[in-house]
Amino acid sequence: MKILVAVKRVIDYNVQVRVKEDGTGVVTDNVKMSTNPPDDNAIEEAVKLKEASKATEIIAVTVGEEKAQETVRKALAVGADKGIHIKVDGIIEPLAVSKILQKIVEKEKPDLVFMGKQAIDDDCNQTGQMLSALLNWPQATFASKIIVKENKLEVTREVDEGLETIEVNVPAIVTCDLRLNEPRYASLPNIMKAKKKPIEQINASDLGVDTKPRIQQIKVEEPPKRKSGIKVANVAELVQKLKNEAKVI
Ligand code: AMP
Repeated sequence: MKILVAVKRVIDYNVQVRVKEDGTGVVTDNVKMSTNPPDDNAIEEAVKLKEASKATEIIAVTVGEEKAQETVRKALAVGADKGIHIKVDGIIEPLAVSKILQKIVEKEKPDLVFMGKQAIDDDCNQTGQMLSALLNWPQATFASKIIVKENKLEVTREVDEGLETIEVNVPAIVTCDLRLNEPRYASLPNIMKAKKKPIEQINASDLGVDTKPRIQQIKVEEPPKRKSGIKVANVAELVQKLKNEAKVI
């Protein structure tokens, strides 16, 4: 089974994101960037399936500027066999990413596509679902457990009510939840070995996909500062404040 894993480069989750003074976006210069956290789970799961002889090849793919290659390199260091970097500058929206991934799927013919459930920069939670629609493949989103069966996957999904288990036919798209596994760290020897693994670079424009943003970003601003809380003496006071001051009941 061949698995394609989509990995996105985002601002590291430990960084306190700052809005640019002119409100045109967030500061990314000299800011630590990392792989989108659930994408690490997606790679980890693919590597585990390969170690269990259920997968034969893992291809890591990213869409983004030149530096996005670092994300592919990291995936190669933890066990992916080959990387693909689709080069595009500027903001790229989920629809354009999913159209690009559709082209890569048609070229590489994987049996499975693993992705993160959501990117922590745009919080869109759209790319996997859109790719599934474009390919007309089944999707299993928010996966916290994956069991490979004959031409099928049994996937446990994290849903609002708790857990839901579904079966999907392969080929399929799976978007991975943080609870799926514990991503491993790349060892130094594997980081060195990853430098020799191939990364194919393709310009998005050569794939014939229109990557122009469809959403116009008008202004980015900091959320309002939270006022400090107060302690109430008893339930009666709490109810009175909720009713008369917060006016929420
Ligand atoms: P989103 O729909 O933006 O929340 O992203 C969901 C998932 O789609 C991410 O966790 C990635 O696996 C994948 N993805 C989104 N954007 C990119 C990108 N630029 N390059 C590679 N994968 C991406």
